[in-house]
Amino acid sequence: MHGGSAGDRSRIDTSTAHSARVYDYILGGKDHYAVDAQAGDTMCEHWPALPVHMLENRRFMHRAGHYLAEEQGIRQFLDIGTGLPTAPNLHEVAQRVAPESHVVYVDNDPIVLAHARALLQGTREGATAYVDADMHDPDAILDSPEFRELIDLREPVGLMVIGILHFILPPDDGLLVRRLLEPLPSGSFLAMTIGTGDFAPGEVGRVAEEYAAQGMPMALRDRATAASFFAGMDLVDPGVTQVHKWRPGPEQEGVDDRAIAMYGAVARKP
Ligand code: SAH
Repeated sequence: MHGGSAGDRSRIDTSTAHSARVYDYILGGKDHYAVDAQAGDTMCEHWPALPVHMLENRRFMHRAGHYLAEEQGIRQFLDIGTGLPTAPNLHEVAQRVAPESHVVYVDNDPIVLAHARALLQGTREGATAYVDADMHDPDAILDSPEFRELIDLREPVGLMVIGILHFILPPDDGLLVRRLLEPLPSGSFLAMTIGTGDFAPGEVGRVAEEYAAQGMPMALRDRATAASFFAGMDLVDPGVTQVHKWRPGPEQEGVDDRAIAMYGAVARKP
Protein backbone atom coordinates (compact mmCIF):
# COMPACT_ATOMS: atom_id res chain seq x y z
CA MET A 1 0.00 0.00 0.00
CA HIS A 2 1.21 3.48 -0.75
CA GLY A 3 0.62 6.79 0.93
CA GLY A 4 1.59 10.20 -0.39
CA SER A 5 5.24 11.10 0.08
CA ALA A 6 7.53 13.92 -0.94
CA GLY A 7 8.86 11.63 -3.67
CA ASP A 8 5.40 11.14 -5.17
CA ARG A 9 4.71 14.84 -5.07
CA SER A 10 7.89 15.67 -6.98
CA ARG A 11 6.49 13.68 -9.93
CA ILE A 12 3.51 16.05 -10.14
CA ASP A 13 3.72 18.20 -13.26
CA THR A 14 2.00 21.54 -12.75
CA SER A 15 2.94 22.93 -16.17
CA THR A 16 0.46 20.86 -18.21
CA ALA A 17 -3.15 19.89 -17.57
CA HIS A 18 -3.88 16.35 -16.33
CA SER A 19 -7.16 14.52 -16.81
CA ALA A 20 -7.67 13.63 -13.13
CA ARG A 21 -7.21 17.29 -12.15
CA VAL A 22 -9.41 18.71 -14.92
CA TYR A 23 -12.13 16.29 -13.82
CA ASP A 24 -11.64 17.38 -10.20
CA TYR A 25 -11.83 21.07 -11.20
CA ILE A 26 -15.02 20.65 -13.22
CA LEU A 27 -16.66 18.56 -10.49
CA GLY A 28 -15.92 21.36 -7.99
CA GLY A 29 -13.00 19.72 -6.14
CA LYS A 30 -9.88 21.49 -4.89
CA ASP A 31 -7.03 19.23 -6.01
CA HIS A 32 -5.95 20.91 -9.24
CA TYR A 33 -3.65 23.65 -10.52
CA ALA A 34 -4.16 26.84 -12.56
CA VAL A 35 -3.31 25.03 -15.78
CA ASP A 36 -6.11 22.49 -15.15
CA ALA A 37 -8.65 25.21 -14.35
CA GLN A 38 -7.74 27.06 -17.55
CA ALA A 39 -8.12 23.90 -19.63
CA GLY A 40 -11.43 23.12 -17.89
CA ASP A 41 -12.76 26.63 -18.53
CA THR A 42 -11.87 26.41 -22.22
CA MET A 43 -13.58 23.01 -22.47
CA CYS A 44 -16.73 24.35 -20.79
CA GLU A 45 -16.79 27.25 -23.27
CA HIS A 46 -16.81 24.69 -26.05
CA TRP A 47 -19.48 22.65 -24.29
CA PRO A 48 -21.33 24.15 -21.30
CA ALA A 49 -22.90 20.77 -20.50
CA LEU A 50 -19.51 19.28 -19.56
CA PRO A 51 -20.07 19.49 -15.75
CA VAL A 52 -23.45 17.73 -16.06
CA HIS A 53 -21.86 15.06 -18.24
CA MET A 54 -19.04 14.47 -15.75
CA LEU A 55 -21.36 14.41 -12.75
CA GLU A 56 -23.61 11.85 -14.46
CA ASN A 57 -20.56 9.71 -15.24
CA ARG A 58 -19.66 9.77 -11.54
CA ARG A 59 -23.24 8.97 -10.55
CA PHE A 60 -23.26 5.99 -12.92
CA MET A 61 -20.29 4.68 -10.93
CA HIS A 62 -22.32 5.08 -7.71
CA ARG A 63 -25.38 3.26 -9.11
CA ALA A 64 -23.38 0.50 -10.83
CA GLY A 65 -21.25 -0.08 -7.72
CA HIS A 66 -24.33 -0.16 -5.51
CA TYR A 67 -26.10 -2.52 -7.92
CA LEU A 68 -23.15 -4.94 -7.93
CA ALA A 69 -22.86 -4.91 -4.14
CA GLU A 70 -26.56 -4.97 -3.33
CA GLU A 71 -28.14 -7.03 -6.09
CA GLN A 72 -25.26 -9.23 -7.25
CA GLY A 73 -23.48 -9.73 -3.94
CA ILE A 74 -20.10 -8.58 -5.25
CA ARG A 75 -17.69 -8.08 -2.37
CA GLN A 76 -14.43 -7.28 -4.19
CA PHE A 77 -13.74 -4.64 -6.80
CA LEU A 78 -10.91 -3.64 -9.11
CA ASP A 79 -11.27 0.03 -10.05
CA ILE A 80 -9.15 1.21 -13.00
CA GLY A 81 -8.65 4.99 -13.42
CA THR A 82 -9.90 5.90 -9.96
CA GLY A 83 -9.36 9.64 -10.10
CA LEU A 84 -8.96 11.96 -7.15
CA PRO A 85 -10.93 11.02 -4.04
CA THR A 86 -14.49 12.39 -4.29
CA ALA A 87 -17.03 11.18 -1.74
CA PRO A 88 -18.59 8.78 -2.02
CA ASN A 89 -15.75 6.75 -3.44
CA LEU A 90 -16.33 3.19 -4.63
CA HIS A 91 -15.31 1.56 -1.33
CA GLU A 92 -17.80 3.80 0.51
CA VAL A 93 -20.57 2.77 -1.88
CA ALA A 94 -19.69 -0.93 -1.51
CA GLN A 95 -18.93 -0.93 2.22
CA ARG A 96 -22.24 0.78 3.00
CA VAL A 97 -23.89 -2.33 1.58
CA ALA A 98 -21.33 -4.80 2.94
CA PRO A 99 -18.60 -3.53 5.30
CA GLU A 100 -16.33 -6.47 4.46
CA SER A 101 -15.98 -5.38 0.80
CA HIS A 102 -12.49 -5.04 -0.68
CA VAL A 103 -11.48 -2.47 -3.28
CA VAL A 104 -8.21 -2.24 -5.20
CA TYR A 105 -7.81 1.18 -6.78
CA VAL A 106 -5.54 1.81 -9.78
CA ASP A 107 -4.45 5.08 -11.38
CA ASN A 108 -1.29 6.25 -13.13
CA ASP A 109 -1.40 9.92 -12.14
CA PRO A 110 1.06 10.93 -9.40
CA ILE A 111 -1.47 13.39 -7.95
CA VAL A 112 -3.96 10.58 -7.38
CA LEU A 113 -1.18 8.61 -5.69
CA ALA A 114 -0.39 11.62 -3.49
CA HIS A 115 -4.03 11.74 -2.37
CA ALA A 116 -4.52 7.99 -2.15
CA ARG A 117 -4.60 7.98 1.63
CA ALA A 118 -8.18 9.24 1.46
CA LEU A 119 -9.02 6.10 -0.52
CA LEU A 120 -7.42 3.82 2.01
CA GLN A 121 -9.80 4.42 4.89
CA GLY A 122 -11.66 1.16 4.73
CA THR A 123 -13.93 -0.23 7.41
CA ARG A 124 -12.51 -2.49 10.10
CA GLU A 125 -13.71 -5.57 8.24
CA GLY A 126 -13.14 -4.28 4.71
CA ALA A 127 -9.92 -3.21 3.07
CA THR A 128 -8.76 -0.99 0.26
CA ALA A 129 -5.44 -0.71 -1.52
CA TYR A 130 -3.97 1.56 -4.15
CA VAL A 131 -1.79 0.51 -7.09
CA ASP A 132 0.19 3.14 -9.00
CA ALA A 133 0.00 1.55 -12.46
CA ASP A 134 -0.99 2.16 -16.06
CA MET A 135 -3.92 0.39 -17.71
CA HIS A 136 -1.62 -0.22 -20.68
CA ASP A 137 0.30 -2.62 -18.42
CA PRO A 138 -2.42 -4.93 -17.09
CA ASP A 139 0.13 -7.45 -15.82
CA ALA A 140 1.56 -4.81 -13.47
CA ILE A 141 -1.94 -4.51 -12.01
CA LEU A 142 -2.76 -8.23 -11.87
CA ASP A 143 0.66 -9.19 -10.51
CA SER A 144 0.75 -6.42 -7.90
CA PRO A 145 0.95 -7.52 -4.24
CA GLU A 146 -2.13 -5.36 -3.53
CA PHE A 147 -4.27 -7.19 -6.09
CA ARG A 148 -2.96 -10.60 -5.04
CA GLU A 149 -3.52 -9.89 -1.39
CA LEU A 150 -6.96 -8.34 -1.54
CA ILE A 151 -8.66 -10.13 -4.42
CA ASP A 152 -9.63 -13.78 -3.98
CA LEU A 153 -9.87 -15.17 -7.51
CA ARG A 154 -12.18 -17.97 -6.38
CA GLU A 155 -14.87 -15.32 -5.81
CA PRO A 156 -16.45 -12.98 -8.40
CA VAL A 157 -14.96 -9.53 -8.89
CA GLY A 158 -16.45 -6.24 -10.06
CA LEU A 159 -14.12 -4.68 -12.64
CA MET A 160 -14.84 -0.94 -12.89
CA VAL A 161 -13.54 0.98 -15.92
CA ILE A 162 -15.27 4.31 -15.45
CA GLY A 163 -14.44 7.54 -17.22
CA ILE A 164 -11.08 6.31 -18.50
CA LEU A 165 -11.62 4.31 -21.69
CA HIS A 166 -11.68 7.47 -23.85
CA PHE A 167 -8.01 7.89 -22.89
CA ILE A 168 -7.20 4.33 -24.03
CA LEU A 169 -6.86 4.50 -27.78
CA PRO A 170 -7.47 1.73 -30.30
CA PRO A 171 -6.21 -0.77 -31.25
CA ASP A 172 -5.22 -1.80 -27.67
CA ASP A 173 -8.43 -0.73 -25.91
CA GLY A 174 -10.54 -3.92 -26.20
CA LEU A 175 -7.51 -6.11 -25.69
CA LEU A 176 -6.62 -4.40 -22.40
CA VAL A 177 -10.17 -4.75 -21.06
CA ARG A 178 -10.20 -8.45 -21.97
CA ARG A 179 -6.80 -9.00 -20.36
CA LEU A 180 -8.07 -7.52 -17.09
CA LEU A 181 -11.17 -9.73 -17.24
CA GLU A 182 -9.21 -12.88 -18.08
CA PRO A 183 -8.21 -14.03 -14.56
CA LEU A 184 -11.59 -13.10 -13.05
CA PRO A 185 -13.90 -16.05 -12.37
CA SER A 186 -17.26 -16.69 -14.00
CA GLY A 187 -19.91 -14.52 -12.34
CA SER A 188 -17.59 -11.49 -12.28
CA PHE A 189 -18.86 -8.21 -13.74
CA LEU A 190 -17.55 -5.42 -15.92
CA ALA A 191 -19.01 -1.93 -15.32
CA MET A 192 -17.71 0.53 -17.87
CA THR A 193 -18.42 3.97 -19.32
CA ILE A 194 -17.39 4.89 -22.85
CA GLY A 195 -17.14 8.42 -24.27
CA THR A 196 -19.17 9.19 -27.38
CA GLY A 197 -19.85 12.05 -29.75
CA ASP A 198 -23.23 10.56 -30.77
CA PHE A 199 -25.43 13.12 -28.99
CA ALA A 200 -23.63 16.44 -29.42
CA PRO A 201 -21.00 15.74 -32.08
CA GLY A 202 -19.85 19.32 -32.68
CA GLU A 203 -19.46 20.34 -29.05
CA VAL A 204 -18.00 17.05 -27.82
CA GLY A 205 -15.64 16.98 -30.80
CA ARG A 206 -14.31 20.39 -29.77
CA VAL A 207 -13.81 19.24 -26.16
CA ALA A 208 -11.90 16.20 -27.49
CA GLU A 209 -9.75 18.53 -29.62
CA GLU A 210 -9.00 20.63 -26.55
CA TYR A 211 -7.96 17.52 -24.56
CA ALA A 212 -5.73 16.49 -27.47
CA ALA A 213 -4.21 20.00 -27.65
CA GLN A 214 -3.41 19.65 -23.93
CA GLY A 215 -1.56 16.39 -24.59
CA MET A 216 -4.44 14.02 -23.77
CA PRO A 217 -5.63 12.46 -27.03
CA MET A 218 -9.08 10.96 -26.77
CA ALA A 219 -11.16 8.32 -28.54
CA LEU A 220 -14.92 8.79 -28.94
CA ARG A 221 -16.95 5.70 -29.84
CA ASP A 222 -20.30 5.16 -31.50
CA ARG A 223 -22.88 2.88 -29.94
CA ALA A 224 -21.87 -0.24 -31.87
CA THR A 225 -18.23 0.17 -30.87
CA ALA A 226 -19.22 0.78 -27.25
CA ALA A 227 -21.33 -2.40 -27.27
CA SER A 228 -18.51 -4.40 -28.88
CA PHE A 229 -16.41 -4.11 -25.69
CA PHE A 230 -18.99 -6.34 -23.94
CA ALA A 231 -19.00 -9.07 -26.62
CA GLY A 232 -19.24 -12.53 -25.09
CA MET A 233 -20.66 -11.19 -21.82
CA ASP A 234 -24.25 -11.05 -20.58
CA LEU A 235 -25.43 -7.45 -20.45
CA VAL A 236 -27.50 -6.53 -17.43
CA ASP A 237 -30.73 -4.61 -18.14
CA PRO A 238 -31.05 -2.04 -19.70
CA GLY A 239 -27.92 -2.88 -21.73
CA VAL A 240 -25.73 -0.18 -23.26
CA THR A 241 -27.35 3.22 -22.66
CA GLN A 242 -26.27 6.77 -22.03
CA VAL A 243 -25.11 6.79 -18.41
CA HIS A 244 -28.07 8.83 -17.10
CA LYS A 245 -30.46 6.23 -18.55
CA TRP A 246 -28.85 3.25 -16.83
CA ARG A 247 -31.13 2.37 -13.88
CA PRO A 248 -31.84 6.06 -13.27
CA GLY A 249 -32.91 7.47 -9.93
CA PRO A 250 -34.74 10.70 -9.13
CA GLU A 251 -31.48 12.67 -9.69
CA GLN A 252 -31.51 11.76 -13.35
CA GLU A 253 -34.94 13.28 -13.98
CA GLY A 254 -34.79 16.07 -16.54
CA VAL A 255 -31.19 15.41 -17.63
CA ASP A 256 -30.95 16.40 -21.29
CA ASP A 257 -29.67 13.61 -23.58
CA ARG A 258 -27.52 16.13 -25.42
CA ALA A 259 -25.63 16.84 -22.18
CA ILE A 260 -24.39 13.26 -21.84
CA ALA A 261 -21.50 12.04 -23.97
CA MET A 262 -21.02 8.74 -22.19
CA TYR A 263 -22.40 5.26 -22.76
CA GLY A 264 -22.44 2.96 -19.79
CA ALA A 265 -23.19 -0.69 -19.19
CA VAL A 266 -22.76 -3.52 -16.73
CA ALA A 267 -22.21 -7.07 -17.95
CA ARG A 268 -21.62 -10.46 -16.37
CA LYS A 269 -18.80 -12.77 -17.33
CA PRO A 270 -20.41 -16.12 -18.11
N1 SAH B 1 -13.17 6.66 -12.41
C1 SAH B 1 -13.34 8.01 -11.87
C2 SAH B 1 -12.33 9.01 -12.41
C3 SAH B 1 -12.34 9.26 -13.91
S1 SAH B 1 -11.13 10.49 -14.41
C4 SAH B 1 -14.75 8.45 -12.15
O1 SAH B 1 -15.34 8.01 -13.12
O2 SAH B 1 -15.28 9.29 -11.41
C5 SAH B 1 -10.01 9.47 -15.35
C6 SAH B 1 -8.87 8.89 -14.52
O3 SAH B 1 -8.19 7.93 -15.30
C7 SAH B 1 -7.82 9.92 -14.10
O4 SAH B 1 -7.64 9.86 -12.72
C8 SAH B 1 -6.57 9.52 -14.87
O5 SAH B 1 -5.37 9.78 -14.13
C9 SAH B 1 -6.80 8.04 -15.05
N2 SAH B 1 -6.08 7.49 -16.19
C10 SAH B 1 -6.01 7.98 -17.46
N3 SAH B 1 -5.26 7.17 -18.23
C11 SAH B 1 -4.84 6.15 -17.44
C12 SAH B 1 -4.04 4.99 -17.66
N4 SAH B 1 -3.53 4.74 -18.87
N5 SAH B 1 -3.82 4.15 -16.63
C13 SAH B 1 -4.34 4.39 -15.40
N6 SAH B 1 -5.12 5.48 -15.13
C14 SAH B 1 -5.36 6.34 -16.12
